[in-house]
Amino acid sequence: MNTPHKPQLQAHSSPFERLLSFTRGIIPGIKRKIQQKAINREWKYIVIHHSATKDSRTGRATEAIRRYHIEQKGWRDIGYHYLIEYLPDGLPTLRTGRGLSEIGAHVYIKDIDQPWYFNQNAIGICIVGDFDRARPPEDKLKFTAQLVRQLMWLCEIPKEDVIGHGEAHERKGSRLIRTCPGNLFNMDKFRALL
Ligand SMILES: [Zn+2]
Repeated sequence: MNTPHKPQLQAHSSPFERLLSFTRGIIPGIKRKIQQKAINREWKYIVIHHSATKDSRTGRATEAIRRYHIEQKGWRDIGYHYLIEYLPDGLPTLRTGRGLSEIGAHVYIKDIDQPWYFNQNAIGICIVGDFDRARPPEDKLKFTAQLVRQLMWLCEIPKEDVIGHGEAHERKGSRLIRTCPGNLFNMDKFRALL
């Protein structure tokens, strides 16, 4: 077939090559489905919290929260899926809480029909620090935004469904006010990083 007007690649592409370029296009979608299967849960939101405690940069805040949730609250594990805290060298680090295949224990809204709605539908991320008292540091915000972007991609969660704990209450029309992740934590500014 003489088709001199066609681009070189097109003219020489075999059915196999065309199949290859087609599968290259759909591989990210397949990968995402496989990952979602592994998680075995359709997460709809990401909810951001603060620990309401100072980050003393020991690198042990997550384990302290885990002990508190298990020993004091009687939960089977820490309530959050991920936590961000400082290491002694001053760099923010990511800690894992619960696995993504498990529902969380981080938003309980007792004055609505489904008090557990966000625990069942939202990935819970806790940034160690008290942001009612101090503004969240830029490095921690940027670090958290990287994690959130990955999770948004993995679970196909839109930016507007990345919300603060207090916003979760507002969305469900709760009369219970929560300042979490802190009065000085600007969720709009955080979403702008995503
Ligand atoms: Zn919270």
